[in-house]
Amino acid sequence: QKPTVIITGTTSGVGLYAAKSLAQRGWFVVMACRDIPKMEQAAKELNIPRDNYCIEFIDLGSLDSVRRFAKNFRALGRPLTALVCNAAIYLPLLKEPLRSPDGYELSMATNHLGHFLLSNLLLEDLKNSPSPDRRLVILGTVTHNPDELGGKIPPRPDLGDLDGFAKGFKEPITMADGKKFESVKAYKDSKVCNVLTMRELHKRYHQSTGITFTSLYPGCVADTPLFRNHYPFFQQFFPWFQKNITGGYVSQELAGERVAMVVADPEYRQSGAYWSWGNRQKKEGKSFVQRVSPQARDDERGAKMWEYSAKLVGLA
Ligand code: NDP
Repeated sequence: QKPTVIITGTTSGVGLYAAKSLAQRGWFVVMACRDIPKMEQAAKELNIPRDNYCIEFIDLGSLDSVRRFAKNFRALGRPLTALVCNAAIYLPLLKEPLRSPDGYELSMATNHLGHFLLSNLLLEDLKNSPSPDRRLVILGTVTHNPDELGGKIPPRPDLGDLDGFAKGFKEPITMADGKKFESVKAYKDSKVCNVLTMRELHKRYHQSTGITFTSLYPGCVADTPLFRNHYPFFQQFFPWFQKNITGGYVSQELAGERVAMVVADPEYRQSGAYWSWGNRQKKEGKSFVQRVSPQARDDERGAKMWEYSAKLVGLA
């Protein structure tokens, strides 16, 4: 039987090309998306082999929907070999927070809390899978890390003491640290939580389950629809800037290929690793395990994030 991978957010960008690459390698891809017609169209346009995927509904912003997705996946009767947490929203121009159906700030709810719940639910499926090599991969980003050039641009991520989470994260609270709403920071905070989640999963479950937990920064994929909510000028300027000034630009295809490598290739079977590529824009650029940001490698903060997130998603 083909190995099965679930990828969230495959209607466009990195997730779509990762799905294409894995399907072409002979994997069966469960495309977890909130817009089924858009997904059908995208899969057709890219000629993704029809026998190698199915589409299942998920709205990562809704905890109910995440739970339903896990149930529907189980009904397919396929052992799970890998899970890729990829979906994300970035709403840089937002002045007031949007709320998820559960009452949480929407970018944190979608990018982190939905994936936190999904990973915890599907951990059971990964454990029960007969495959000796099972992996859980969470997309990170350079902007989670103020130690890197791409992460220095303000506002910087800061989870503080996670006071906002501790207080229940509902109105009037908008941010993990309990401070004033800042949409760009909300995205970056959610990506710090993504990396912390990967590290906590590794610490808690790698040894007992043998599952490989990893994260990666595939490069700056400056022309994905992630930036669709930005100023039109930014959408023109950003890819040019990344191609010609920082050299960090990576095509959607190459980024998707890198995700597929971390899911499938033997050299990426290193639990707890955060993968990055030197000479990012080059196809032959070499991958290496990169140190994550000070907050993302802070074990105490990781344990707190875990405890509060488990409460917020109803696992504790
Ligand atoms: P895209 O906007 O192209 O893709 C995001 C995907 O997430 C889309 O399929 C979108 O679906 C889906 N999505 C958003 N909200 C939800 C939801 N509530 N439920 C289900 N699916 C949802 O962005 P990218 O491909 O650029 O980003 C993918 C990942 O890569 C993200 O985790 C991002 O942080 C990371 N990344 C991106 C970088 C970049 O430069 N672009 C750099 C580093 C990391 P829909 O079509 O329905 O909106």
